[in-house]
Amino acid sequence: MRQVLLNCKAWVFCCAVMVAGFTQAAEMTKANIKQALADAYKKYRHLDEGKNADYIPALAKVDSGIYGIALVTADGKVYTEGDVKSEVSIQSISKVFTMALVIDQDGTDELLHNMGADATGQVFNSIVAIEQYQGSEMNPLVNAGAIATTGLVDGKDYDEIWGKIASEYNEFAGRELTVMEDVYQSEAATNQRNQAIASLMHAYGHIDENFLRATDIYTRQCSVGVNAKDLGLMAATLANAGKNPVTQKQVTSAENVPEILAVMATAGLYDDAGKWLYKTGLPAKSGVGGGIIAVSPGKFGIAVISPPLDAAGNSVRAQKAIADISSALGGNPYQVSAH
Ligand code: GLU
Repeated sequence: MRQVLLNCKAWVFCCAVMVAGFTQAAEMTKANIKQALADAYKKYRHLDEGKNADYIPALAKVDSGIYGIALVTADGKVYTEGDVKSEVSIQSISKVFTMALVIDQDGTDELLHNMGADATGQVFNSIVAIEQYQGSEMNPLVNAGAIATTGLVDGKDYDEIWGKIASEYNEFAGRELTVMEDVYQSEAATNQRNQAIASLMHAYGHIDENFLRATDIYTRQCSVGVNAKDLGLMAATLANAGKNPVTQKQVTSAENVPEILAVMATAGLYDDAGKWLYKTGLPAKSGVGGGIIAVSPGKFGIAVISPPLDAAGNSVRAQKAIADISSALGGNPYQVSAH
């Protein structure tokens, strides 16, 4: 009997050690976070897959070797690895923050009734997706919905609207960001497709007669320069219920953050959003400049910049690095322990 009891105790002890070991690996300690970032940086530093976007001529010229990781915890601790100083254009990641501005301005129903909150299953600048439901049944993170969202920002003229968008981004990032003029000029000279999209959205009543102005402001918002640290802090502000964890400013209303994250989960990585969510569980947004942000609500925001993209338009290294880091730190919000 004594022997059975001893064996039993030993077994319980082994289980406890195993559980502790497992929990520790997924715990957000300083050492674990640093290790996770260093491992992911090293593992993918020499990965040679994907290529820069080139449909916007200026993006083809960006250094493909830029590779930086920034993780900011919801209580404002910043961890970085690699090149977190070089700036790239924010591109589609900007759509998240203009969406936040419009939701704060008009409430969550306006966007839902205007362009919807559904994945289109089509590419980000699809015209077929607009035609299918006359500009409804899509979301603020594809071009049609994003340009219409920019068109909803209140303001008497271009400068006032732009001023609101720029200061929203600055507050999310915790510093004054600037437009990369070369990228803006390059896209403005070649964005006839986005102009056509905006025109169609106007025809279907989703955007007013200033649709070309909205397209131009949208192009400008996509050209804002950011480094990995800026994006990490922008993501961490969403992870921290809309309050920038470093500046302590409430940038967007806490009660609207779940809707913002829901749209990111639905449509953040273009037509690969489902695959990404399946693998990571993280609301995220990518941009053709090479950045991806992802949010583990209440835990951390993470960003990786690396310009080479896969066929769906998502940074190859950023996807892999974020997935690894989040998994090492228990970032998947759907992964819980049983009671
Ligand atoms: N400015 C880009 C466009 O409208 C953004 C695309 C993206 O990053 O997905 O084409």
